[in-house]
Amino acid sequence: MHSVKHPRDIAIVGAGLAGVACAIAITRELGTFVPDLNIRVFERSDFPCTSGGAVNLAPVAQRHLARLGVMEELDRMGTYAGADIDSVKLFSMTSARLIGSIDFTDRAGKSYDGYKGRRVMRVVLLTAMISVAERANVKFFYGKKVVGGEEIDEKAVLHFEDGSTSSADLVLGCDGVHSPTRTNWVDPDRPSEYCGMSFLQTTVDTQDTSSPLPFDSAVHISRYGSLLTTYCDRDREHIFAAAIMEFKEEELEYYRLRPGQDWSTRNRIRSSLRQRLDNRFRKCAEPCANEIVHGDKEWILYPVHQVRPGGRWCMNRVALIGDAAHAMPPLYSSASYALDDAILFSRVLSRHGSDSIKLVFDIYDQLRRNAVDCAFVESSTIWNKMKFRSSLQERVKEWKMPSYIRHNQRKREERWISDATKVPIPTPELNEPLNPWQSFHQE
Ligand SMILES: Cc1cc2nc3c(=O)[nH]c(=O)nc-3n(C[C@H](O)[C@H](O)[C@H](O)COP(=O)(O)OP(=O)(O)OC[C@H]3O[C@@H](n4cnc5c(N)ncnc54)[C@H](O)[C@@H]3O)c2cc1C
Repeated sequence: MHSVKHPRDIAIVGAGLAGVACAIAITRELGTFVPDLNIRVFERSDFPCTSGGAVNLAPVAQRHLARLGVMEELDRMGTYAGADIDSVKLFSMTSARLIGSIDFTDRAGKSYDGYKGRRVMRVVLLTAMISVAERANVKFFYGKKVVGGEEIDEKAVLHFEDGSTSSADLVLGCDGVHSPTRTNWVDPDRPSEYCGMSFLQTTVDTQDTSSPLPFDSAVHISRYGSLLTTYCDRDREHIFAAAIMEFKEEELEYYRLRPGQDWSTRNRIRSSLRQRLDNRFRKCAEPCANEIVHGDKEWILYPVHQVRPGGRWCMNRVALIGDAAHAMPPLYSSASYALDDAILFSRVLSRHGSDSIKLVFDIYDQLRRNAVDCAFVESSTIWNKMKFRSSLQERVKEWKMPSYIRHNQRKREERWISDATKVPIPTPELNEPLNPWQSFHQE
């Protein structure tokens, strides 16, 4: 059942989680009935992006990665495949009192379909994803920074910083929160905005700490922000630490590390970041976390940006996927929204791509919009609670938090078991079903 109408040439902007997941998912969905499918991924960096330290993969993210064949590949990476995490324990930073727990197991302590949480270095995850994509014949082009695009006749044309262009039947803008595909093409009225909070991140060898982490993953909460400490490798030889705290937008430039900066500037940035961390978190009652704060590791600043909900996700031949469309402050499983996007988009494309791209975009928007808008509101609410408070406000927050966490447990459980491969795709009139047997799921 060969369809000549399906898009054959697909260009993806960005080799991040959304871009590579789209490449794999589309190959799986379309590959069997579009044999000359040509998927190219254009990445601005000269190598896979390593920023962001270690990511937590909630059960839903792992289920989706497993469907894409990535968990198997990741598991081949030995200790670097990441640390399995049952829960993230939340503590008061100053008293070390347990406030609550974000569980990645069910109430009987069991995994969800074999998946709990997993903390893995982003670069390792991306390496596993890219290996799977390359085996599926996806082609990667590094050092290709997209600066804009246009639609000409039946084609979408990408413009690169080096002056070259490339045309495709369909372009997917998976170029993250600052997406030029969005700001220079699809929706220029929706720039990214700084959410007021930043991550300061580092990794520490466990052999350099005198005490072990008492829990695999913990967040120490204070009125100045939160400090995450978590193992990020299977053998628990490395700890990933992230301090989440307020930085004013106008301060960010002062702390920004850039290629080409001289030694003294870099040294000034490193020591002022350390100073800032020390001021905020020096009273951490948990010994290992306290040692990490006072150690001599280099901390890197990652300002957190977001893209306000609403706005346009697509034009005639270009669509935004992942953070490019709906970046939100990260919360337990933000990356899983990018994976949901990739799987759902590929399924809608396979089902309706021979009808019209517009129909694909409309159905995809209809399936995704409400879910990501709700997630944005939830994560923004929680992030606002992390902002600076007086000590009285902090006490009230600590007192209320256990019931808030319990109250939201059902919502989290629903999210952990959600499965983008099972969401019913609306069936169009006059549309013949396409080879469903190679699809992720037969509706
Ligand atoms: C500090 C931080 C910590 C986080 N921690 C977690 C976590 O623990 N768990 C979780 O689930 N989620 C987490 N998230 C959220 C998660 O990282 C994102 O939701 C996810 O990475 C989105 O994937 P993406 O592919 O849409 O964007 P990205 O991962 O940002 O990928 C975008 C890609 O596009 C490329 N690109 C950008 N511009 C261009 C251009 N002009 N031309 C070509 N290529 C371009 C980039 O180099 C990059 O490779 C975190 C986010 C942040 C900021």
